[in-house]
Amino acid sequence: MESRSFDIIIAGAGASGLSLLWYLLHSEDRALRNKQILLADRQLSVIRDKTWCFWDGRFLPFEDLIHHSWKSLEVRAFGNTFTGTLSDYSYHCVKSDDYTARIFQLAREAGNVTLLEADILGFADAGGKAEMETSKGTFTAEMIFQSALKPPGLSTMKLDISLKQHFAGWHITSEKPVFDPEISTLMDFDVPQQSGVSFVYVLPFSRHDALVEYTIFSEELISDEGYAHGIESYIRERLELDSSQYKTIYTEKGTIPMEDRSYPARYCDNVWNIGTMGGLTKPSTGYTFTRIHRRNAEIAAALEAGKQPPDAAASPYRFRVYDMMLLYNLHHHPEISVTIFHELFRKNSFDNILGFLEEKTKFPQELKIFSSLPWKPFFKSIYALKHRIATGA
Ligand SMILES: Cc1cc2nc3c(=O)[nH]c(=O)nc-3n(C[C@H](O)[C@H](O)[C@H](O)COP(=O)(O)OP(=O)(O)OC[C@H]3O[C@@H](n4cnc5c(N)ncnc54)[C@H](O)[C@@H]3O)c2cc1C
Repeated sequence: MESRSFDIIIAGAGASGLSLLWYLLHSEDRALRNKQILLADRQLSVIRDKTWCFWDGRFLPFEDLIHHSWKSLEVRAFGNTFTGTLSDYSYHCVKSDDYTARIFQLAREAGNVTLLEADILGFADAGGKAEMETSKGTFTAEMIFQSALKPPGLSTMKLDISLKQHFAGWHITSEKPVFDPEISTLMDFDVPQQSGVSFVYVLPFSRHDALVEYTIFSEELISDEGYAHGIESYIRERLELDSSQYKTIYTEKGTIPMEDRSYPARYCDNVWNIGTMGGLTKPSTGYTFTRIHRRNAEIAAALEAGKQPPDAAASPYRFRVYDMMLLYNLHHHPEISVTIFHELFRKNSFDNILGFLEEKTKFPQELKIFSSLPWKPFFKSIYALKHRIATGA
């Protein structure tokens, strides 16, 4: 069993671990750039298992990693289609294999990054330092940033609503040119709604290929056959392709927590939680990618200034309240939720909605958005969640 010391350990080499590594290796501070870093994960090969979408590109390490961008989006509900052209944003997507390959290459070239393929078993404080226990030994560092394990304090955080966003996606190619690579379908709610609020999104990369993703917000997952049936039906009915007319070249599957609890900033004194384990998932949408990059840029800036990373809350108070209200309706009133989405996209511009979801809007804009929605469900959610809203959410 190995036992070694480093300056910094990054435990977990997914989106958050790799983006933090990128910020550290690109720091303007030479001392920080040259720190001895251990990057640990149970698997360190380059695989495609996620397709990340986001619309605020400012925090992405490499613009050229963007696989495709769309300026036009559409949403469908109750037989109506709402289309919008973005001016403030673009809707981007990055493939996880492109992202991972690039940052692994940087790590190999850097000379001060050690890679460790091992199971991470736990973290502890050790005499003013931090310790990581793995299947291959124990490693210490001044500080650890971890995205691999659930923080121990998580179960004690206030929690009223716990949903999952679960989904499966197929990247398909077809001989027939059925896609428009200029328009992405953000949400199509005109699919069966029996398992929870359900929609399909489509990321068309060319006339002949697209990722078709079937997504549900609910407490319980469904079977693999259930997802496959949802995607197949959509491809047959909406895209009008029968199974002999397309090939599936890649599949992905995932679950993202949609919860109203705050995540502890630290695992223990010298171990910071980052990424999903740092509570960076936006509770009402599941979007995490931009928030990961924003937070890691903040961590790197603090280290550059010789400070400890701030224990920042993921969102300002009023956005936490909005998230709780939306989550409450998604959980307790799935049928009203589709109406809420319908009205949201019918009465507001896509730029305003994306700005709101990115928490970039000001209070008057938010008031305008909420006044465009059915108000009764939101009043009910405020009443049901008053104990949380009154005590800081
Ligand atoms: C399929 C999928 C698609 C998504 N799409 C989007 C999207 O479009 N937009 C968006 O904003 N968000 C999206 N998300 C949510 C979020 O952005 C991703 O989950 C993102 O990868 C989170 O980054 P992370 O570093 O926290 O976790 P991960 O990327 O999952 O990284 C965690 C790492 O820890 C390692 N690990 C875990 N446990 C151990 C252990 N015990 N020992 C060793 N290693 C361990 C894993 O191997 C993994 O590499 C998606 C999530 C999934 C699952």
